[in-house]
Amino acid sequence: MKRYSVFAIVREALRQHRGWEPAWASPEPRDRYDVVIVGAGGHGLATAYYLGKNFGITNVAVLDKGWLGGGNTGRNTTIIRSNYLQDPSAAIYEKSRALYETLSQELNMNIMFSPRGVMMLAQTEHEKRGYLRTERANALQGVETRFIPPEEVKKLVPIINIDGPRYPVLGALWQARAGTARHDAVAWGYARACSAMGMHVIQNCAVTGVEAVGGKVTGVQTTRGAIGCNRLGLVVAGHSGHLANMAGFRLPIESVALQALVSEPIKPCMDVVVMANTVHGYMSQSDKGEMVIGGGADGYNNYTQRGSWHHIEETVRALCETFPVISRLKMLRHWGGIVDMTGDRSPIISRTPLEGCFINAGWGTGGFKSIPGSGWAMAELMARGESSLAAGFGLERFREGRFVDESVAAGVAH
Ligand SMILES: Cc1cc2nc3c(=O)[nH]c(=O)nc-3n(C[C@H](O)[C@H](O)[C@H](O)COP(=O)(O)OP(=O)(O)OC[C@H]3O[C@@H](n4cnc5c(N)ncnc54)[C@H](O)[C@@H]3O)c2cc1C
Repeated sequence: MKRYSVFAIVREALRQHRGWEPAWASPEPRDRYDVVIVGAGGHGLATAYYLGKNFGITNVAVLDKGWLGGGNTGRNTTIIRSNYLQDPSAAIYEKSRALYETLSQELNMNIMFSPRGVMMLAQTEHEKRGYLRTERANALQGVETRFIPPEEVKKLVPIINIDGPRYPVLGALWQARAGTARHDAVAWGYARACSAMGMHVIQNCAVTGVEAVGGKVTGVQTTRGAIGCNRLGLVVAGHSGHLANMAGFRLPIESVALQALVSEPIKPCMDVVVMANTVHGYMSQSDKGEMVIGGGADGYNNYTQRGSWHHIEETVRALCETFPVISRLKMLRHWGGIVDMTGDRSPIISRTPLEGCFINAGWGTGGFKSIPGSGWAMAELMARGESSLAAGFGLERFREGRFVDESVAAGVAH
């Protein structure tokens, strides 16, 4: 793989850009691999990457029924933060945030990580108490957050209305090194690095069945034929229930559509990410100038990758209340993705009842931020059979009642 560099850009500029090679190969599937990962979203690709990088396992195929990064990884609003409440969550999300800091250099792909700061507004006394608690928990966990007063909120976000008629801003939980990144580039960067290690990233290859003998996985059936493997990773977000069904077990997961929208591009007016959980909406400004706006999840299970009208209305209403200056903006487009929600709003990174089959799912509305850390933990679990980062997120917690309750940290989504 040729490295991207300033010298490569100059060289290609001098020869009409005829020397660029495809970022990743498009091979035909082989009959057998050591490891097959189902799902070429961020989590599946990161798992493959760290299997190769950390454990030298490169006889790996990553299969996707569509195009890589075409699921939630390419549909999210790209917020990266690690200010969760419980210790297992803070550990994996902070590991992930830290990996994001140097991911562009590591993958030799500009993922546009922008640690511009994320604030979560407190707009009721109850919410304020909750964030003060999180601030103290984060201090013990080594996650840098700070509860800031309304005047500091206004200073950081001049366009915000802190004297809202219904819910005035009482302060915010502020994480200065949180931010955003370019979602497609994260998927492309991992795919390119996997391909460079000799792994197969195979698009348009849907898995239709899981093969097992004597309670142990032996391979998968796909739309491009049978593929054997010793270890199988299911990393398919909103479709996890279907894949688990193929592998013969059930998951405590519901799949719902979560949606987002963007406005027309405008001049720079906001250089941090603001989440307003009480009125329910959040917003950041992309490098193109569009206001990127996140809405709510549908109240019923479904697989439609579209937005629904009443959510747009509710989200826009919430944001006009928080940022009155945006009321004249035109919205450009909206879309949805199928998110996989667990009861405690925490992920599953786990062995399964089928030997050799592992699952990574349940990231729900907030799994973009965790892609590097989740891939790191899942690779360790698949290679070694255990991972300290994944230990709290086993499937058995639902049977044993050991929930990792993040319903507050993940409440507004993202
Ligand atoms: C509107 C929206 C906003 C969001 N905002 C944020 C945010 O700001 N911050 C944040 O941290 N998170 C956010 N999220 C959540 C985040 O996007 C997801 O948690 C994360 O992208 C999940 O990644 P993944 O790799 O697990 O899944 P995906 O990217 O969905 O990848 C799963 C892949 O599996 C493939 N697949 C499914 N079934 C099969 C099959 N049978 N055979 C082969 N392949 C199959 C799919 O085609 C898909 O490509 C948001 C999500 C949405 C929808």
